[in-house]
Order: sequence, then structure tokens, then C-alpha cells
Amino acid sequence: MISTLLRSEAMPQAIPRNSEIILELKQVSYRYPSGKVALEPLDLCIHRGEFLCVVGPSGSGKSTLLSLLAGFLKYQSGELLLSGQRLTHPNMGQTLVQQEHALFPWRTVLGNIEFGLEFVWGKKRLNKTERKNKALEVLRLVGLEEFAQRRVHELSGGQRQRVSIARALALDPELLLLDEPFSALDVSTRNKLGEELLELWRKTGKTILFVTHNLDEALHLGQQILALKEGKVALEGPTEQFTLQDLQAMLE
Ligand code: ADP
Repeated sequence: MISTLLRSEAMPQAIPRNSEIILELKQVSYRYPSGKVALEPLDLCIHRGEFLCVVGPSGSGKSTLLSLLAGFLKYQSGELLLSGQRLTHPNMGQTLVQQEHALFPWRTVLGNIEFGLEFVWGKKRLNKTERKNKALEVLRLVGLEEFAQRRVHELSGGQRQRVSIARALALDPELLLLDEPFSALDVSTRNKLGEELLELWRKTGKTILFVTHNLDEALHLGQQILALKEGKVALEGPTEQFTLQDLQAMLE
């Protein structure tokens, strides 16, 4: 377990909240076709460069929120703006990394990252050499450059998740969405990857939305916390305002 005592030393530098709003939800809600309301009308702002952790018990709406932000589900009320544009479908502006790495076993590590880049069209379209260079650049960022020619099955679980994060970063998204990316890993690998993610965040300045059910992890990594309970906001604000006990009590 990550000790909350380490939190103040490891706390990322606060990003001033007067930075540009990158993501804005105004009264966004979602009801599944079964009739289940997974998300009550929600207001949320994320500023450029922030690291927001979303916590909540199972069934509180965390994955539904992420699917809405990734454009996989269509919200039924309100408005969702990414960089001021109404978000209506998945695009390169936001990429999602999930617990299951979903890498192609028949491709090398480098090939997996290049594959995502093959689908980039328009002004951002890269030629073969540029794709390779970009893939190597992000592999370097996650410390896996020397594994570029390995097959996925030759990597550990932690390394595979680092490749998944690198693949997402290669697309240069405005918003990096992470859905319990480390939950299938053992505790020490999970802690190590948490530290690496913080380092990556500091280096790249990316806006990150990280879903976890691990409250310690959220307090350690997040600069802002959003706690959901039964599809509603139970608590929201800068991490330093909350203790583990506050979160536990709120989510009981
Ligand atoms: P979390 O990620 O916090 O565990 P979810 O967003 O997965 O929560 O689920 C929120 C609520 O929506 C839960 O009550 C869950 O049972 C329900 N739900 C999730 N997916 C579906 C679905 N495809 N159809 C109907 N209900 C769903």
C-alpha cells in the first residue's frame, strides 16, 4: 500500500487553477438502455495540465464517466466540451488506457505503438519514418526503448501497461484517460508505475484523468479528487483538503 505519509513529499506541484479549462461538463447525465441511471447530471471542470483522480465504490459511475469522456457513450443531457468543442464521438483529443492492455501479441512493442499512429489522418498524419521516430520517442519516455523489438508476451505486466500508456501518449492527446490501469498488477509494481506516471505527468504536462478504487493511490497521485457515489458527486476538490478517513467516510 502507498503510505499517505509520503504524500506531502511526493505531491505534484500545484497547477494554478486559473489555467485554461480543457474539459467542461455541464449537467451531463447518462442512463443505460436498461433504465439504470449511472450518472446524475454532473458539472465538472478540468484545467490544462491537471491530474484528477476519480474514486468511488464499485457501481458509482466511474467507468461510465470515462466512457462518456472517451466518446464511447453518448450523454443524454447537458453539454460536454473538450477544448471548447462539443464532444460527440471518439477522436484523437482523448485516449483511454484500460486495465486490460489490449496490445497485439503478433506485433513488436514498437509495432504496437506505430499501429495506433497509422490511423492518424489530416494535418497530424505521419509518414513511416516519422511514425517510427514518434514511437521510439514515447518508448524512451516510459523507459522501454531497449524493448522496442520485443514481442508483447516477452514483457512483464507492468511493462505492458507502460507500452499501453506510451501508445496513448504517441497520439498526443489533450486528455489522457486512465481506467484503473494498474489494478491487475502486484502492489510493488503498481506503486512503481504510479511514481513513473507522476514523473511522466511532470515531464509532459499532460492533463490526466485517472480512475481508481484505491483511495491511497488517488491521494498519492491526484492533484484534484472527484469522488462519486451512486452516480452523484460525493466530494470534489484539491487533494490536500482530504484525508484517507474523509474519503472512506464519504464513500461508506
Ligand atoms: P464503476 O465504474 O464505478 O464501477 P459503472 O460506471 O461501471 O461503475 O456503473 C455504474 C452503474 O451503471 C452501475 O449500477 C452498473 O451496474 C450500471 N451499468 C454499467 N454498465 C451497464 C450496462 N451496460 N447496462 C446497464 N447498467 C450498467
